[in-house]
Amino acid sequence: MKAVITGGAGFIGSHLSDHLIAQGHEVTVLDDLSTGSLSNLSQLKDRPGFRFVQGDILDRELVDELVAEADTVFHLAAAVGVYNIVDNPLRSLRINLHGTENVVEAAVRHRVPYMVASTSEVYGKNDADGLKEDDDRIYGSPVKSRWSYAAAKGLDELVAYIHGTESGVPCVITRFFNVVGPRQTGRYGMVVPRFVDQALSSDPITVYGTGAQRRCFGSVYDVVPALTRLMDTPEAYNRAVNLGGREEVSIKGLADRIVELTGSSSAITYVDYEQAYGEGYEDMQRRYPDTSLAARLIGYEPTRDLNDIIGSLVRHRRSARSVPEPV
Ligand code: UDP
Repeated sequence: MKAVITGGAGFIGSHLSDHLIAQGHEVTVLDDLSTGSLSNLSQLKDRPGFRFVQGDILDRELVDELVAEADTVFHLAAAVGVYNIVDNPLRSLRINLHGTENVVEAAVRHRVPYMVASTSEVYGKNDADGLKEDDDRIYGSPVKSRWSYAAAKGLDELVAYIHGTESGVPCVITRFFNVVGPRQTGRYGMVVPRFVDQALSSDPITVYGTGAQRRCFGSVYDVVPALTRLMDTPEAYNRAVNLGGREEVSIKGLADRIVELTGSSSAITYVDYEQAYGEGYEDMQRRYPDTSLAARLIGYEPTRDLNDIIGSLVRHRRSARSVPEPV
């Protein structure tokens, strides 16, 4: 199989590239390197069947050309990370809306099965106990730029779904819930790599708000194999599928756990939302996935608990630090 992975130099995309190459497939990564990095792909550079193309998903011709040669498209390119969204709300809206439209239109034009990455953010402020795929979305006000990501991804799902049903081209929509693992950067938000880096540098751990807000972190090693399995499962076509972990934790609890697991001397500090993100920020208090649909469709069963997830990131960061900085 020849796969195109948009955003393949990013965190999840690079793990998917590894996975597909290991299975003997050909992979073309399209990435503009705005938040992704070539170092995430250095292990694949000389592997037969792997190709990297630097480019923008807003470039219709380029997207069309690459998709035309493919058997499957995994669309993971997006402007991600809370800081990125809050700092560049219009740019991230354009990429997340029009970029997805380009990729999906090209896939449908060439009748190439496609997966569109969505997010648990589409549930907005809904804090149901175990968010199900058909639960209501509760977005905040349109004058809070925080919601632009959720709103754009919500529309992306509709773009994917409507094109998929009208054309009959297989389409899968995946909703990622706080996926974590090696290569993830804390530069644009993403609390686990931020706390791990702070702990390893003995810097204060910055808990935003009270730290009582809760999340459920999933491992990239559980989520990535599920993507190819969903693409092979006709019952998964034209629907959104939750993918995430199982162990829920408060953000204060996460900070404590990371301090304990790293043996760090870092203190925990509390930072106001306004200081962290600027004015008008709204946080979600709770976000816990119900992954029973993925379990039914493909036998999805998260196998890594929170300690495993933190441990894999800590090992990755420690080994990266032992390599001398280039001069
Ligand atoms: N958070 C935090 N300190 C940080 C970064 C994030 O306390 O340095 C909090 C953030 O406010 C949110 C949670 O951690 O409550 C998860 O944030 P992230 O950006 O990782 O994901 P999301 O908000 O999209 O779930």
